[in-house]
Amino acid sequence: PFDVLIVGMGPAGCSAAVYAARKGLRTALVGELFGGQVLDTGEIDNLIPIPKIQGSGLAAQLKQDVELYPVHVMANQRAAQLVPGGKPGALHAVKLESGATVKARTVIAATGARWRKLGCKGEETYLTHGVAYCPHCDGPFFKGRPVAVAGGGNSGVEAAIDLANICSHVTLLQRGPELKADQVLQDALYKLPNVKVLTNATPEEVKGDGTNMTGLDWTDRTDGSVKHLDVDALFVQIGLLPNSAWVKDAVELNKMGEIVINECGATSIPGVFGAGDVASTPYKQIIISMGSGATAALAAFDYMIRTPTP
Ligand code: FAD
Repeated sequence: PFDVLIVGMGPAGCSAAVYAARKGLRTALVGELFGGQVLDTGEIDNLIPIPKIQGSGLAAQLKQDVELYPVHVMANQRAAQLVPGGKPGALHAVKLESGATVKARTVIAATGARWRKLGCKGEETYLTHGVAYCPHCDGPFFKGRPVAVAGGGNSGVEAAIDLANICSHVTLLQRGPELKADQVLQDALYKLPNVKVLTNATPEEVKGDGTNMTGLDWTDRTDGSVKHLDVDALFVQIGLLPNSAWVKDAVELNKMGEIVINECGATSIPGVFGAGDVASTPYKQIIISMGSGATAALAAFDYMIRTPTP
């Protein structure tokens, strides 16, 4: 068995692997591909102290960093189920979709999250060339330019307020007849001079020149007519789905489906830790995920030196 089994090979999992291996722990890293969501990212400008790096470059760098240490990497594998050890100190088991079972004294869940997609035409074509999911990450790329936001919940309205500060104009599209965000956010939004809210509005097709997005067709649900917006970006803010199905029967999740962790990354099950976007940590960013992966690995080490095996 391993001392630490880390599931997920994104920034959180890779950082946890490096920290665990540097503690001299027998470390295994299971997941699909090195990089996680970073593989879907174009340019990253907010990973201090690297001024600019492509997502693919960062994914390759994560792999190189992990490979500097004696980490047992099991790539192209997905975890199907966590079976907790029962007694404190007992081995936990992770069943893989391949049918294999891997056992370890501690498990770090770092399986990340995925943005809920609109599913409209052009969304995939112009992903990272106008279609974006993260205003903190991609907002500054559209400084001084007109953009749209899809989603009238808290994250959509927060994104619109944030982008209004950077972009020339923001159009917020809400599918239903009214915004769902907290009133205080709506009040802040309606005070902004460069924001327009469209209700009963469904994004229909992201338009572009083959390389970059140039506009958005949307349907006015009150009369079914299709209208057009000249915008350079569409920020999709209709939910972030944590990849927590494989632990849902074992550890406590919050109402968003995130693994509930404390400040050390500990979950409701002793010896099982959570890190990164799959966990209840606020603000989903690379630098934050890496920090929480490091925290979880150090906490796993602490747990092990204090918990005898039965
Ligand atoms: P992830 O990166 O999601 O990695 C988790 C990995 O686990 C994935 O490979 C996933 O496929 C895998 N996995 C899922 N389920 C299982 C399972 N059952 N078994 C095994 N493996 C599984 N952040 C920034 O800081 N700056 C940016 O500029 C930026 N731009 C972004 C642009 C885009 C398009 C996207 C989508 C995100 C962006 N982010 C950015 C957010 C950032 O990528 C995430 O916060 C970060 O990758 C989270 O790291 P993580 O390791 O927690 O999870």
